[in-house]
Amino acid sequence: AREFRLAARPEGTPRPDNFELATVPVPTPGDGQVLVRNLYLSVDPYMRGRMRDVKSYAPPYEVGKVMQGGAVGEVVASTVDSVRVGDTVLHNLGWREYALLGAGDVERIDPDAAPLGAYLGVFGMPGLTAYTGLVRTAAVREGDVVFVSGAAGAVGSVAGQIARLRGASRVVGSAGSAEKVRYLKEELGFDEAFNYRDGDVRDLLAQAAPDGIDVFFDNVGGDHLEAAIDNFKVNGRAALCGSISGYNNENPAPGPRNLGKLVGWRLRVEGFLVLDHYDLLAEFRAEVGPWISDGRLKYQETVVDGFENTAQAFMDMLAGANTGKMLVRL
Ligand code: NDP
Repeated sequence: AREFRLAARPEGTPRPDNFELATVPVPTPGDGQVLVRNLYLSVDPYMRGRMRDVKSYAPPYEVGKVMQGGAVGEVVASTVDSVRVGDTVLHNLGWREYALLGAGDVERIDPDAAPLGAYLGVFGMPGLTAYTGLVRTAAVREGDVVFVSGAAGAVGSVAGQIARLRGASRVVGSAGSAEKVRYLKEELGFDEAFNYRDGDVRDLLAQAAPDGIDVFFDNVGGDHLEAAIDNFKVNGRAALCGSISGYNNENPAPGPRNLGKLVGWRLRVEGFLVLDHYDLLAEFRAEVGPWISDGRLKYQETVVDGFENTAQAFMDMLAGANTGKMLVRL
């Protein structure tokens, strides 16, 4: 069985030689364990953070050791009654073809309730992230003008649509290509969208939301956060989800130069981590599930075939090759 190891910590943008594709024997489950053949692997921006040797909410990947991440697979051997051979499970030992896990470390999922990849995307962690940030952290209200950065990605595409379905008066998104901008406006129902490469984000946002914004859902940070602060209405709220524009920087870029506006405009800017909010999972699935089923909330996946392409899929995701969730199918 094959697995991806961290060969060396990247400096700047990750490169192929930061990863090592190794072959190991297929493990045998001991007492209380299950063996899972992975079917879908998730590649996520937070993994770039785990490649760094710094203290964070998730421990760093270790050089020379197999990496980890979300995965969906089929149980092929089990020593426990609660998880049977043939069950489909969600777990956190991706980046490998076969995963050996304690029975308590897998979540059984219903393969008929949603396509398997959706458990890693719209119906899983990224979808819940969108819901948490908008509904709980930013407390989106009917009539709000909402701006989502990184809007064509896994989290952003769901966040923008939840805002619309929750009654936002205007939803604006930013993304990194003309095709993504078209997708946001024509397929996902964003009222306005812009390509952040087309000019100064502050000006592009001011044109897209001439009366200002009430809510900012930020996946990008940097110039996007500064632009949002400049374009907020009084009492605006920002849910800081991520700051991918800086993930490959060896030294953090200086923060927003206009933080002083937080006082005058009575802004609330708050970070959140989805892992603190799994109490919302049932509510999220109950509200968003029907929107997915009846097509009011659309989603796209960028699926790469072949386990050996996992590292490349990760690098391509960081470079913006994906629309919606980036997945690897084994
Ligand atoms: P995406 O599906 O959005 O993929 C990443 C995207 O980021 C790329 O497609 C690319 O799109 C964009 N991007 C890359 N570099 C830049 C840049 N320099 N400036 C602007 N955009 C860039 O990933 P996810 O939806 O999984 O994650 C989105 C964000 O949410 C990330 O910041 C992530 O860290 C965060 N996150 C936070 C969680 C939490 O609990 N707080 C949980 C999950 C995710 P483009 O073509 O538009 O540039």
